[in-house]
Amino acid sequence: MDIVLTGDRPTGKLHLGHYVGSLKRRVEMQNSGKYNMHVMIADAQALTDNADNVEKVKNNISEVALDYLACGIDPQKVTIFIQSQLPQLFELTAYYMNLVTVSRLQRNPTVKNEIQMRGFKQSIPTGFFTYPISQAADITAFKANLVPVGEDQLPMIEQTREIVRSFNQTYKPVLVEPQAVLPENSVCSRLPGLDGAAKMSKSLGNCIFLADSANDIKKKVQSMFTDQTHLRVEDPGHTENNPVFIYLDAFCRDEHFAAFLPTYNNLEEMKEHYRRGGLGDGTVKKFLNEILQNELKPIREKREYLARDLGEIFNILRKGTEVARLKASQTLQEVKEAMGINYF
Ligand code: ATP
Ligand code: MG
Repeated sequence: MDIVLTGDRPTGKLHLGHYVGSLKRRVEMQNSGKYNMHVMIADAQALTDNADNVEKVKNNISEVALDYLACGIDPQKVTIFIQSQLPQLFELTAYYMNLVTVSRLQRNPTVKNEIQMRGFKQSIPTGFFTYPISQAADITAFKANLVPVGEDQLPMIEQTREIVRSFNQTYKPVLVEPQAVLPENSVCSRLPGLDGAAKMSKSLGNCIFLADSANDIKKKVQSMFTDQTHLRVEDPGHTENNPVFIYLDAFCRDEHFAAFLPTYNNLEEMKEHYRRGGLGDGTVKKFLNEILQNELKPIREKREYLARDLGEIFNILRKGTEVARLKASQTLQEVKEAMGINYF
């Protein structure tokens, strides 16, 4: 059976980027019954750039767990756990660090970009700089062979694969090389922000959250960037690099036209109209808003219901963490044996 590991940093509530980039796929995989699945709330990784903000990370653990359950992740079928409660992961990280050079870490394009985004300049926390190694520990501890992620995570998976190869060659072949699983619809692997920034990201504040109220969603859609050259309704417009159309590419299905905008049969017809001129941004945004309201309402309602019993959420996390800890300690044992450091 394929083994799957994914996770999210509890730095905020989850947003539409997580939903289309990874959460939806996790739920599909879970429901197929073909995978042994683990979902990690990466609080220790979140602390690598939030050392002085433990409270924020802590508070967001239950928020992220609520987002998972509201989207349909079922704790009966999936092991959901909290990273910091598995010391085995930190031991594995320490051994893997010896297999990775500083210059290799410096080449990681996602980390480079995140360092810039966070304005670290020369003061990069060592934990942040080395988080790709800790991520390799997370994945390999479960011998996961599949990791459903957004595009920004590809360099992390590549780093993990290198560590696995190096470990297996240097010691004994006990670790499994994972593969990234990207969304089938390519626009979903990196959903842009409301402001048109390359990525919707908790740290950039350009998100629609799964927990947002109907009114927030509407306001956020209205504030979205569109085509800057499309000044008057009759002007021809661009649909590429236009966040509103990118979101439609990610969320719109033909039946949405029948339900909310019967003027068109499908997205292609609507795009053609926008390109030749005569279709206003207001109409496009109104349509996107209907689609998002329709998709997010059941999630928000389930979330509100579950949020009434946070004790139960922590019960689920505690049980999942116990299961995960057993698996990780088994792998750690094998790793130490492979290295020959099982002295007693
Ligand atoms: P932070 O800004 O704290 O890093 P984030 O919004 O990038 O938060 P993460 O917890 O780092 O979220 O990412 C969790 C998962 O969601 C990863 O697999 C990542 O690839 C995916 N993901 C995050 N943002 C997007 C996005 N905009 N489009 C598609 N996938 C995304
Ligand atoms: Mg991130």
